[in-house]
Amino acid sequence: MAVRFVIIGGGPAGVQAATHAARLGAEVTLVERDIMGGAANLWDCIPSKAMIATGAVMALTCRAETMGLAGPGAYLDLESLRRRIGSITGHLEGAVVGLLASQGVRVIGGTATLEGPHRVTVDSPGGSVNLEADAVLLCTGSRPRVPGWAEVDAQRVLVTRQAYPPREIPTHLVVIGSGVTGVEFVHMFRSFGARVTLIVSRHQVLPYKDPEVAAALEADFLASGVALCKGARAVGIDVTEDGRGEDGVVVRCDDGRAIRGSHALLAIGSVPNSYGLGLDAAGVLVDKGGYVPINQHCQSSVAHIYAAGDLSGKLPLASVASTQGRKVAEHVMGLHTRQHRHLDYDKAASAIFTEPEIADVGLAETEAFALGRKIRVTKVPFSANARALIDGDARGFVKIVSDPATGVVLGGSIVGDRASELISVLALAVSAHLRVSDIAESLLVHPALAEALAEAAE
Ligand SMILES: Cc1cc2nc3c(=O)[nH]c(=O)nc-3n(C[C@H](O)[C@H](O)[C@H](O)COP(=O)(O)OP(=O)(O)OC[C@H]3O[C@@H](n4cnc5c(N)ncnc54)[C@H](O)[C@@H]3O)c2cc1C
Repeated sequence: MAVRFVIIGGGPAGVQAATHAARLGAEVTLVERDIMGGAANLWDCIPSKAMIATGAVMALTCRAETMGLAGPGAYLDLESLRRRIGSITGHLEGAVVGLLASQGVRVIGGTATLEGPHRVTVDSPGGSVNLEADAVLLCTGSRPRVPGWAEVDAQRVLVTRQAYPPREIPTHLVVIGSGVTGVEFVHMFRSFGARVTLIVSRHQVLPYKDPEVAAALEADFLASGVALCKGARAVGIDVTEDGRGEDGVVVRCDDGRAIRGSHALLAIGSVPNSYGLGLDAAGVLVDKGGYVPINQHCQSSVAHIYAAGDLSGKLPLASVASTQGRKVAEHVMGLHTRQHRHLDYDKAASAIFTEPEIADVGLAETEAFALGRKIRVTKVPFSANARALIDGDARGFVKIVSDPATGVVLGGSIVGDRASELISVLALAVSAHLRVSDIAESLLVHPALAEALAEAAE
């Protein structure tokens, strides 16, 4: 009899697990309470990057003369931006639904709860459905964190999911939180012409990134007029009586500063969607943050109940969620007994879609320093790269970290146009243990941004 595999949550983790397990012969049921593709498609990755893409075209239009063009520029049409985002997410949802159907996955729309270790109940519009499962995957994702000191009204005080498509462009947006999400929203609204102030609780934006990378972003923010309020932690938000105008919102900081703006946006992390899932009934343990701890196979404290994606408290990235989903499918189908590589979270590439983009993978220079590990660091700027000059954006650099004895690539960072694409070369090198000479000796295209990678690898 086929393995009965029930998946709760249709985000990247759930969809990849479902299609992969179905291909391997499982009888798969996927339960999703909202849209297929998950929060990644509806709220997070896709709409944010679609907004950023529109901002990038606006920026390009503004510097059209520098590319040899003359004539009037384009203006932002929020209604057509809204339609564009809806059409992209709708298209992706349709593609996912089609893929699941083609693999024979049973899809149920509704909210799922564990009723016991092998039993899942779905509360759906058509009534309640009971499912028996040999294996269960929990991948219900996460939602933006709202601290006790903030009252979100979705008008003036927003979380990221309420910021798009925007009803209006804030005249002065105060962004609270300078991690990846915070800086992307700073960039997004700055490119739409909003005045932006960023509250940075530490002394650099992107506190966990290479300081040289963070410094490049800060310099770009300052050059584009973003105000940085450093070393301050927000502790309260007041909305004035009518809540209107440039000063409708006041963000209070722990050092006594009060930052006034027209809107405030909270970008201070997320919390897992574990509450109400019936974890107790199934004996699944959660940590104090509400995440479901997992082992290297993504198994929870109950062996046949797996967790993946944001709920597992590992790296909150759609790419990691998808890979975990595939690994779970293989483990459920018993493929882990064959040669099976565990997921190495330290080798996950990540990108920040600012302008210039930032991307990194593997060991950072500062980490190696802290570990006392000997490394070789090579850095090449894009300022002499022919393609960067042709494209009109030669900001940034490529940095490669390698082992001085063997030449094996250990990590790297890229600041610059299309860094999110270029990092794939270093991600492959890190995961396949390639040497810098393997990159340097590749016969690349000319003119191409990737030539900077080959140069840095020399
Ligand atoms: C603003 C923003 C931008 C981001 N951009 C990127 C990016 O560019 N690249 C990247 O890699 N990552 C990005 N991320 C992170 C990425 O969105 C998440 O890591 C990813 O969505 C996690 O996938 P998941 O499968 O765990 O769950 P999700 O995508 O969160 O999906 C979980 C699904 O489970 C469903 N669900 C929850 N509870 C139940 C239940 N009881 N029954 C049925 N269904 C249920 C939900 O409706 C949801 O659809 C971004 C995050 C944010 C906040």
